[in-house]
Amino acid sequence: MSFIVAIDGPAGTGKGTITKLISKEMGLVNIDTGATYRCVALYCIENNINVADTEKIIDNLPNINIDMKNENGEQTVYLNGEDVTSKIRTPEVTKIVSEVSSIKEVRFAMVDVQRNLALGKDVIMEGRDITTYVFPNADVKIYMDADEVERANRRYKEMQEKGMEITFEEVLENIQKRDKNDKEKEIGALKIAEDAIYVDTTKLTIEEVKEKIKGIIEEKRGK
Ligand code: C5P
Repeated sequence: MSFIVAIDGPAGTGKGTITKLISKEMGLVNIDTGATYRCVALYCIENNINVADTEKIIDNLPNINIDMKNENGEQTVYLNGEDVTSKIRTPEVTKIVSEVSSIKEVRFAMVDVQRNLALGKDVIMEGRDITTYVFPNADVKIYMDADEVERANRRYKEMQEKGMEITFEEVLENIQKRDKNDKEKEIGALKIAEDAIYVDTTKLTIEEVKEKIKGIIEEKRGK
C-alpha cells in the first residue's frame, strides 16, 4: 500500500519548494502535477498549435508522452524522451498553461499520467485538484494558501534570479488570471477539500512552513 500526501493551492504559495524539501527529508517521491500540464503547453508551442484550437490539442494527446524521474527530491521531466525540466518554466509556457489545463480531455489524460506515476509508491504530490479529484482518499490532505501580492512577489524574485525579463505587474497579472481560470474550471477546479488542513504561508518562512507540514505528515505516518 502506498502512502499519499496531497497538497493543493494556487500559484506562488510555495508548494513546489516545500514538497521538494519534504520529499528529500522524508523519503517521499515528489510529483509536481503542474509539470504535466506544462508539457502539453510546451508541446503546443513547439508544434505551432494555437491554444484556442481545442480539437487539435485533443487530437495530439496520443503523441504526448510524459515521464518523470525522481532523485533525492529533484524531479526531471521528459516530454517525448527530451529533458524539458527548464523549458516548461518559461513565461511563454506559464502564460498559456492554465488555458490548456482547462480542456477536459487534457485533464483526463494528465490525471492518468499522474496516478500512474504514483502507483505503488510513497509520494508527495502537489497541484490544484490532488486532494479533491486525483487522490480524494489521500492519507494527508493539505491546502496551502497565501496573499496574492506576496505570491506574486515570490514568483517575481524567483524569475529575476533566473534572469528572466518580466515586470512585477506582469507576474501579478498572470497570477490573477491563473487563479481565476483555476478556480472556474469545469473539472478539477481549485477548491479547498472539506477535510484538508489549511496552511496560510503569507507570513511564514520556508523553514516554518516545512516544519509545520512535516509535523502534520508525521502525525499520520509516524516518524
Ligand atoms: O503548479 P504550476 O504553476 O506549475 O501549474 C501550472 C498550471 O497547471 C496551473 O496554473 C494550473 O492551471 C494547472 N494545473 C492544474 N491542475 C494541477 C496542477 C496544475 O490545472 N493539478
